[in-house]
Amino acid sequence: MEQSATKSAELIELEARFTAHNYKPLDAVLTRGEGIWVYDVEGNRYLDFLAAYSAVNQGHNHPRIVAALIEQVQRLSLTSRAFRNDRFGPFCRKLAGLLGYDKVLMMNTGAEAVETAIKAARKWGYTVKGIPADQAEILVFTNNFHGRTTTIVGFSTDPDARDGYGPFAPGFTVLPYGDLDAVRTAMSPRVAAVLVEPVQGEAGVIVPPAEFLPGLRALCDEHGALLLCDEIQSGLGRTGHLLAHRASGIRADGVAIGKALSGGVYPVSAFLADDAVMQVFHPGQHGSTYGGNPLACAAADAALDVLVEEDLCRRSRELGAWFAERIRALQSPHIREVRDAGLWLGVELHPAAGGARRFCEALMQRGLLCKETHTHTIRFAPPLVIQREELDWAFQHIAAVLG
Ligand SMILES: *Cc1c(COP(=O)(O)O)cnc(C)c1O
Repeated sequence: MEQSATKSAELIELEARFTAHNYKPLDAVLTRGEGIWVYDVEGNRYLDFLAAYSAVNQGHNHPRIVAALIEQVQRLSLTSRAFRNDRFGPFCRKLAGLLGYDKVLMMNTGAEAVETAIKAARKWGYTVKGIPADQAEILVFTNNFHGRTTTIVGFSTDPDARDGYGPFAPGFTVLPYGDLDAVRTAMSPRVAAVLVEPVQGEAGVIVPPAEFLPGLRALCDEHGALLLCDEIQSGLGRTGHLLAHRASGIRADGVAIGKALSGGVYPVSAFLADDAVMQVFHPGQHGSTYGGNPLACAAADAALDVLVEEDLCRRSRELGAWFAERIRALQSPHIREVRDAGLWLGVELHPAAGGARRFCEALMQRGLLCKETHTHTIRFAPPLVIQREELDWAFQHIAAVLG
């Protein structure tokens, strides 16, 4: 134990010396994962209650996804889009059919899918809507998180994400999340699109008022603007639906997805839209060397099958409602508010609790891994393959630490 304790200390020291300090992780040095469980280099077992920000909705190392990945990597992994590959068309047909859009544009990271949405909206604005050159505007919201590129952080309202990275790209107007009047006022013939997270994950699982998304849909229709949903964290089962915004009875004109699209085995993202939008892209006008590669398609193909066949949306809805009820019933002196959407919870603590970090550290000591988001909120987002008994186990520890 003494010797192995040195092992994780050594690895943490290497990170401190040789890696950029752009994250502040908890000190669990993980080496293996299986389903909802991960193991550190000392052999301690933890329940993963974050699931890599919902990239691992299907659970770690899902055997079916891993098998698809291994089978594919032994055959063909990358062609670039200079040539065609036999996985790309069939996978995009499956994805488009499942989410209900005409076409798919594959990228790798979430930020790239959002960049694709922005490009599509602008080009559509100029070529279809008739916005004068370089005048297109995209409406976005406070406390958004859409990724880390210089364009995207330019319209972040989080000083950590934004400060020091200017000058920023123009063409974005930031409005209060949930405020339809502000959107109504900001609408103009220059607005190409509204870009919104149906539930704000990084902000702490912020669920907007029920009328917000339908209201955005109506305003976009009225003013001839596109409604674009960033479903990178909220999508693919996390809120109990394949796409969170569909629970409001509306359909976005385009969606960005990523994270759980591959079940956590490989970076795969995509922008989906109907022909009327996607036809703005012509050869050479957008792309990515790895985008749509056979390995990505094989992994994501299997990850979608798991999502559907293991009924992860229904599991998320049912277990989430039950679990949120239990957390609400805790009567903890530290908890200010519990927000939930499926098996996705933001537990906001009173400032007097002294920050969420120490509770996350205490939970880690008990074998439960979750992470503070901003200062006062703990996000719970376990893999959606979790069982009720395992949630029960987690609840006992949460109750002990927060109760
Ligand atoms: C994680 C996330 C992104 C960025 O995805 P990356 O793969 O980290 O680039 C964008 N939007 C939302 C809502 C996210 O949660």
